[in-house]
This record gives sequence, structure tokens and C-alpha cells, in this order.
Amino acid sequence: MSAVSIKPKTSGKKVTIKEKIFDTIIIGGGPAGLTTGIYLSRARMSTLLIEKALPGGQAILTEIIENYPGFPHGIAGPELMQKMEEQAVRFGLKIEYGEVEEVKIKENKVKIVKINNQEYKALTIVLASGAEASKLEVPGEEELKGRGVSYCATCDAPFFKGQKIVVIGGGDTAIEEALYLTKFVQEVTIIHRRDRLRATKILQERVFSNKKINFAWDSVVIKILGKEKVENVLIQNKKTGEEKEISCQGVFVFVGYIPNSKFLKELVKLDKRGYILTDDNMMTSQEGIFACGDVRKKILKQVVTACGEGATAAFAAQKYIEELKGVSYK
Ligand code: NAP
Repeated sequence: MSAVSIKPKTSGKKVTIKEKIFDTIIIGGGPAGLTTGIYLSRARMSTLLIEKALPGGQAILTEIIENYPGFPHGIAGPELMQKMEEQAVRFGLKIEYGEVEEVKIKENKVKIVKINNQEYKALTIVLASGAEASKLEVPGEEELKGRGVSYCATCDAPFFKGQKIVVIGGGDTAIEEALYLTKFVQEVTIIHRRDRLRATKILQERVFSNKKINFAWDSVVIKILGKEKVENVLIQNKKTGEEKEISCQGVFVFVGYIPNSKFLKELVKLDKRGYILTDDNMMTSQEGIFACGDVRKKILKQVVTACGEGATAAFAAQKYIEELKGVSYK
């Protein structure tokens, strides 16, 4: 940490900050946040990463990541994320645990992040808080959560050994998780609201040739039923209006994600779904606050894009700090 003098662009007056402050606070320890941490720590910027649970983000819940370059046979999600954390910590990244309650900006451009009733200060913030699984929002879902309703196959698949389960969704996550579940369960029915999958073609090839998987096309779940545990789902065909029950012991929901941006309130500009808007350098609408990874509005959500954005955010944050501190390379 360092004591710095800041020259605000507007007044030209130097403001001396006596408190100890970090160069950067990164919020979120997934691939985007950890990559930011690796780059900033190697640049010898004092950096604190705040994570609410385990570093690794959604990637830690992924059995195998096949499209991260450098691993021709794929790499287990937890292993890749553990290595990223180890790499960042080796270069000096500090990690604190807690859920961010608030981010504020003081007049002198210092940013304050509040966790566990404690305030941490920094010159820049990198928002890498990711996204979390969307809910179906149907009757029975909340009541039977953890009693048959799940949002993570990697975590819960072994509980459904030899049973019949349904998977809801047609994207990459739903298809990857359905394929993983076939290693444990007797039968998987994928319920998808259209007649075509959104998932990548290679995953489609695998799912269509898997004998344990069948499909309920053009269908939505309208109710999850069961007394103590999941027993059935009631689905409706959107084209014909026909309703039918599918007997199952597990319901795995993979219908996209919602960004973890609620704690930001009015701090930075968001799109209507809550994703953070940035420029090409990952700068948000608020000077000195950057965003990267799945919490940011973008077209491709992947570990590799999260890492690239994390590196860009780190470099942009470093340039911003150097300008504030009046560092010149001339
Ligand atoms: P996604 O691509 O947004 O797909 C969500 C799926 O859920 C879609 O098929 C969507 O149907 C369906 N859906 C959405 N709301 C629904 C509702 N209320 N009821 C029923 N169905 C609903 O989400 P994702 O699969 O979680 O993937 C998120 C991002 O991560 C994507 O960019 C994806 O490519 C990426 N990802 C990549 C990999 C990989 O590269 N290996 C693995 C996992 C995820 P429609 O198709 O009709 O919209």
C-alpha cells in the first residue's frame, strides 16, 4: 500500500491523501479477477482481491474445460482455477473474503469498498463479480431446491445415481452438464423451449449421439412437483398447448445467468439486464472503475475472454494510476 498525491484533472490542485490505500481493489476471484491480479501484481501495483466464497468463479463448477488454449485434452475447471490463484498469489496478490456491501467514491477520487463492516480504499476498482445462475421462477422450484432441484451438475450429480432426471435449457451449459450427468444417471430428458439447441455444434453432436439422452422440444416447465423431494415436472408444449408430466427425481436448471451487479446501485452504467457497460479498455462510465468477465456486457462469455479482459483491465488501471501519480516514462 502507498500514500499518494493526486492531481484532480478539473482543479489542477494537488490533494494529498494521508490514508494508506491500495492501487487497485479487484472485486471477484474468477478467471477475469485472477488474471487482473496476476498482471497488476507483476506490475508491482499494490492489489487486493475480494472474493465472497472460493476463488475460481463458475469455472470451478465445470468438470472439464476443453476450449482454453494450451490443454489439448482439456483441463478440469477446479485445477485450472487453482493454478490461476496460485500464480496470482505467487506474484503478491492479497485476497480477502467477504461479500461487498457497497462501493463509494470520495471527492479526491479514492474509491471505498465495504465488506464485513470494514472499509478498504483504492485508487482504482476492477469489477469482476461475474454472474449467477438464473432461476426458472416456477412453482415448486424454491420449495424443492436442494431436494431434487439443482443448478450444478458437478456438485450434485452423484446424488442421482441410477435415477431419471431432467435438464432445462439448450445452451452450452445445459448440454455440457447433461452430458456429464449421463455418467451417473439412468436417463436424462432435456427440456428446451425451442426446436433447436443454442449450444456449440461439437456439443450438439455429442448430445444427439448419447443414448441416455432424450428431448422434450418446444416445451417449458410450468411446475415442479413433489412432497419431500422432486417427483415430477409438469411441462407444456408451446406450439400445441398440450401439458404432460415427466416422472423424475432431479431437475437441473441451466437457463442462463444474471450478472452480479446489484451492489453497484447507481455507481456505473448498466444495460437493461444489469450487465456493466465499458469501453474497449474495460473502463466503465465511472473514471478509475473498470469491469471485466461475465459481469460485463459482451458477446462471448468464456474463460479465455474473461482472462483477456482481465489483462486489459489491469493494463488500463495501471496506466490510470500512473497518470494520477504523475509517473512519466519520458
Ligand atoms: P445461454 O447461452 O444464455 O443459454 C440459456 C439457455 O436457456 C438457452 O437455450 C435459452 O433458450 C434457455 N432459457 C433461457 N431462459 C429460459 C427460461 N425462462 N425457460 C426455459 N429456457 C430458458 O446460457 P449458458 O448455456 O449458461 O451459457 C452462458 C454463456 O457461457 C454462453 O455465452 C456460453 O457460450 C458460455 N459457456 C460456454 C461453455 C463452453 O465454451 N464450453 C460452457 C458453458 C457456458 P433459447 O435458446 O431459446 O434462448
